[in-house]
Amino acid sequence: MAALTLDALTSLAKRRGFVFPGSEIYDGLQATYDYGPLGVELKRNVQARWWGEMVHKRADVEGVDAAILMHPTVWKASGHVDAFNDPLIDDKASKMRYRADQLVEGYIDKLRSKGKDAEADRVEKDFVAALNADDMPKALHDLIMGEQIKGPDSGAFDWTEVRQFNLMFSTHVGPVADASSKVYLRPETAQGIFVNFHTVREATRQAVPFGIAQIGKAFRNEIVARQFIFRMREFEQMEMQYFVKPGEQMEAFEAWREARWNWHLGNGIRAEHLRWHEHEKLAHYADAAQDIQYKFPFGWNEIEGIHSRTDYDLSRHQEYSGKNLQYFDPHTNEKYIPYVVETSVGLDRTVLMLLCEAYDEDTLGGESRSVLRFHPRLAPIKAAVFPLVKKDGMPEIGHKIEQALRDEGLTVFYDEKGSIGKRYRRMDEAGTPVCVTVDSETLENGTVTVRDRDTLRQERIAQDRVGEYVRDAIKMWTRA
Ligand code: ATP
Repeated sequence: MAALTLDALTSLAKRRGFVFPGSEIYDGLQATYDYGPLGVELKRNVQARWWGEMVHKRADVEGVDAAILMHPTVWKASGHVDAFNDPLIDDKASKMRYRADQLVEGYIDKLRSKGKDAEADRVEKDFVAALNADDMPKALHDLIMGEQIKGPDSGAFDWTEVRQFNLMFSTHVGPVADASSKVYLRPETAQGIFVNFHTVREATRQAVPFGIAQIGKAFRNEIVARQFIFRMREFEQMEMQYFVKPGEQMEAFEAWREARWNWHLGNGIRAEHLRWHEHEKLAHYADAAQDIQYKFPFGWNEIEGIHSRTDYDLSRHQEYSGKNLQYFDPHTNEKYIPYVVETSVGLDRTVLMLLCEAYDEDTLGGESRSVLRFHPRLAPIKAAVFPLVKKDGMPEIGHKIEQALRDEGLTVFYDEKGSIGKRYRRMDEAGTPVCVTVDSETLENGTVTVRDRDTLRQERIAQDRVGEYVRDAIKMWTRA
């Protein structure tokens, strides 16, 4: 199979209606994207599976859907106003802007790809020291200058200083735009969970340990957003905060690490395309942090973070709100601020990962086809129904099967135009696991042909068994 490029994937995503550039008729708005008919189904299936596994299947996790606009002090307490910064640097030659830390990471990757591991190790050591330095921007700048790292786009060595840039978008509530009306678009969903720790606990009578989960939009004014839906300025997160007794966080951390890894495998991601990455720099309040990375066409990159955040968030909200956020443990009669283990995964990044993972090319009857081998449980369209020809009552039977599948809650596509081979291939490219064809034998004995996207096996089954066949295909799927 030819190596997948992000360009090829972006164009397939647009052509087939997965993801479009945002505001395209006005030439787009950088790093914003709209999900098309197939994309929105894929995304909703991912959301539903996350919610199913994280909330519905567990007695100890509750869901919330908090407001995007929150009291501005929330972001003071959380540390985002003072510290949600990225270090930026400009290439004076090309006028291109980069994240200084990513520039160094890219340089280290390049050294490794050239087999210069010893040099890469040395720069990596200096990089970690720079990230931990008191004056991090200056330390990063010194490193870039010392290593003479060139602009990736211009090849020039003509940098500005490194400056810190706050990633939060702000707006104003009410008609007067002054400092007192300033609010932020949330840069993460987690704070909506922390501020509801008590309300959720009281309403549900949950006892620690328990978790709160949320899916929702987050906004970050990213400095560099060039990798399709990998890095957007408006994106969706699926986050869960698990509250535990202090001292019990490591056990929870390990359990959630395992659960989250398995969730990705259950989406059909191959284990060899995933790896753990330990943070080079722990936030001062965290006592463990690991990311799950996926092997994207542009390299290994984070899709999910699992963090042990101690009692930092709740303590800060207690301090800034003046409200008591302690928990009274009825078993031990102790009062404490719970520790938190969080799992935080990007929905859009998961969709991108699924597209990359599913994409395949092969030859069929001398013609090459692209096929998206989604796990059928996530496939946007579960079945396609084709009458072989547009006569002899075949369309009527086709529509009857289509409606029966829709009534069972399955997503279906009906198509009666063009050669059957072309219709199959179009569905392969949409990742549809099962195609159903009504032909002359159907008129004689009520059977239809079902075709499997991956094995290409065709068999005849009774037309009233199609729903069952599709559900079995979802249940029994393993990657070929
Ligand atoms: P990165 O280092 O890639 O900027 P991060 O460490 O800042 O990510 P977190 O704050 O831990 O990310 O957010 C949790 C998850 O949210 C990430 O693992 C990612 O899947 C998703 N995410 C973060 N920023 C973006 C973005 N700009 N676009 C799309 N998804 C994002």
